[in-house]
Amino acid sequence: MFDGIGSMDDVYSVRSPNDVRYGMGAVNELEAFVGERGYESALVVTDADIVGAGAADPVFDVLEDADVDVTTFDGVKPEPKLGMAESAAAALESADADFVVGLGGGSCMDTAKLAGVLTEHDVPVRDLLGMGNVPGAGRPTVLVPTTAGTGSEVTHIGVFADEADEDNKKVVYSEHLFGELALVDPELTRSLPAGIAAATGMDALSHAVEAYVSTLRTPFTDTLARRAIELIGESLREAVHQGAHNDDARYRMSLAATMAGQAFVNSGLGAVHALTYPLGVEYGIGHGRANAVLLPHVMRYNAPAEPERLADVARLLGVRERDDETTLELARRGADAVAALNDDIGIPNHISELGDIDESEFEGFADVAFEHSQHNVDRNPRAMDRDDVIGVFEAAY
Ligand code: NAD
Repeated sequence: MFDGIGSMDDVYSVRSPNDVRYGMGAVNELEAFVGERGYESALVVTDADIVGAGAADPVFDVLEDADVDVTTFDGVKPEPKLGMAESAAAALESADADFVVGLGGGSCMDTAKLAGVLTEHDVPVRDLLGMGNVPGAGRPTVLVPTTAGTGSEVTHIGVFADEADEDNKKVVYSEHLFGELALVDPELTRSLPAGIAAATGMDALSHAVEAYVSTLRTPFTDTLARRAIELIGESLREAVHQGAHNDDARYRMSLAATMAGQAFVNSGLGAVHALTYPLGVEYGIGHGRANAVLLPHVMRYNAPAEPERLADVARLLGVRERDDETTLELARRGADAVAALNDDIGIPNHISELGDIDESEFEGFADVAFEHSQHNVDRNPRAMDRDDVIGVFEAAY
């Protein structure tokens, strides 16, 4: 039975961003924030599609009301490269803005975080890669998500493709990447196209499920992860199919994505994120979509190691327990529930449906997963060797 308390023999740690404001209209908090700090100019880092969809308008409006001089960098592309952060940093230096706003999905928020740091520290961008290599605070950063997915608004992480290394994804982890302020306003997600709402929502579910079974989980991450799983099970279908017309579903999804982000930044992730790595890098399959396809298969693999917890996931997703089933059977039906969710929101459940991917690639995929995502394999509750990874890819094919 889940009690959310943990063990009195352990000491737990919680990593939190500075200030998170959440709710419909939360972006309006920016006016008071700017006034308190005396900021007069901002660089908004975003992408042209977000601006075109009108999702950026509430932020531009509040900055105008606050008499802030705004420069816009709208060149961010999904799954950004390190050079994108350098370009955004050049724009920030040229504008000499008091603060930077990362406005968009994970791609824009991550670009803004790294641009803020690069502007304050004259170091080659690749020296910042890895854990704890950012020398100090960056230009103050405000993070405003327009997807309900990555949780980047509450993480100290930036993810970038390295164009000098075959676009392999590299990660910067630093306390200096936490935003000074995160504004989670579900109204900004109304314009999300259904396909992006589906993929980003499943990214959030992957974060929550992986956090809940991670080897580094804590009572704090458990509580956030459980509620995120429940909210996503209740609301993702409606958020995808009714989008702009269902604020209740959008509200729940934004809350769930931020909770899942706050969970995984403390617990780490697992095999889903390790195995999706080669699919993203080798085939350009979007992060959320790749996670969605692999999540039920990894849950089935993990079920014998964590039957109680994955049975909890099943219950949280609304699966009704049967009198005659074992905990392990219920755990496996949790994976079936995730696959059914994928079906309902237009995401395939097999790698073979993602593109022209041949099974002969799986040995190479396994090598890439271990080379670049060993830390995620290490957090997975069931140990995995190379053959196990290939086995999950085959089961998911
Ligand atoms: P994204 O930022 O790449 O955006 C995907 C698409 O959605 C873009 O084309 C964008 O224009 C569009 N879009 C976003 N919001 C919209 C809106 N409201 N209306 C219309 N269109 C909109 O997608 P994402 O999934 O949010 O971010 C993915 C990136 O985040 C990847 O690079 C991934 O590795 C990274 N990531 C970072 C963290 C972290 O903690 N920093 C965690 C997970 C993933």
